[in-house]
Amino acid sequence: MTNEEHPSRKTTKTTKALASKLASLELEARWQDLAECKGMDPTLFFGPEHAETVKEKRDREDAAKAVCNRCPVRAECLEYALDAREAYGIWGGMTELERRALLRRRSYDKPGFTAKFPSAPTRETQHISQSGLNVDLTIYKSDLGTSHYTVSYVTYPNSVDVSNPQNNLNGAVNGALQSSGIENPHLVKQVPNTVSGSPGMEVEASADNGYLFLEAILKDHTLFQVLTANDKNAPPVAAQPFIDSVTLK
Ligand code: SF4
Repeated sequence: MTNEEHPSRKTTKTTKALASKLASLELEARWQDLAECKGMDPTLFFGPEHAETVKEKRDREDAAKAVCNRCPVRAECLEYALDAREAYGIWGGMTELERRALLRRRSYDKPGFTAKFPSAPTRETQHISQSGLNVDLTIYKSDLGTSHYTVSYVTYPNSVDVSNPQNNLNGAVNGALQSSGIENPHLVKQVPNTVSGSPGMEVEASADNGYLFLEAILKDHTLFQVLTANDKNAPPVAAQPFIDSVTLK
C-alpha cells in the first residue's frame, strides 16, 4: 500500500503522526499492497475529526474489524502496529487499547520463559558465528533510566557438550562479563544455583563504570542469560526482583 492508498491518508488528527511511519513502511514492506483496506476511507479505522458517541465508536470499530477479519495480511499489519507502538486506530483487527493489553501480556510471557520487565521489551536477534558455532541469539530488553534489563537465549547445536553444565555456565558468565562493557569488573558474588529445576550461575559484579547482576541458566541445550546492568557504579533499580521474576517453561 502506498501512503496515498492507506486509509490514514485522509486528514485526521492522527495523519501527521502516521505520515512518517507510513513513509518508512513504503520503503521496507510490501504487505500493504495486499491490504483489504487499500483505498478505503481512513475515517473507518481512525475515527472522524468530531467526537463520537460511545455507540458510534463501537459500531465504527466493529465495521473496521470486519474489514480486518477478511484481510490476508492481518497478522503482518498487527505485528507492524505492535512493533511501532501505533497509538491510534484499528490495525490488524485491534483497537489501540486491545493492542496495549496484548503488549502487556506479551511483555510478561515469551517463548521459553516468563519475566516481569519494567516496560514492554523490544526483541532482536543476533547471529553468532564463532568457535565453530553458527547460532541465533534472541534478546528481549527494556530500559529504565540508566538501568537495562535483558533476557536472552541461544540453543546450542547437539555437537556442543552439555554433560557438565557448570563448564557451559562458567563460559557464558565469562563471555557476558567481557562483552558487558564494564571495565575491570570486581566479582561481588558468583554462586551456582538452580532456576526452574535447571542448573544456573548467579553473578554480581561492580566496576567504576557499571554494575551488573547476571543469571546464566542451562536448560537442556538452551542457554538463558538474565542480565540487569547499570551504566553507573550502583546496583540497577530493582535488579533482584527482575531476576527473581524469571521462570523457564
Ligand atoms: S488488517 Fe485491517 S488495517 Fe491492517 S491492512 Fe488489513 S484491513 Fe488494513
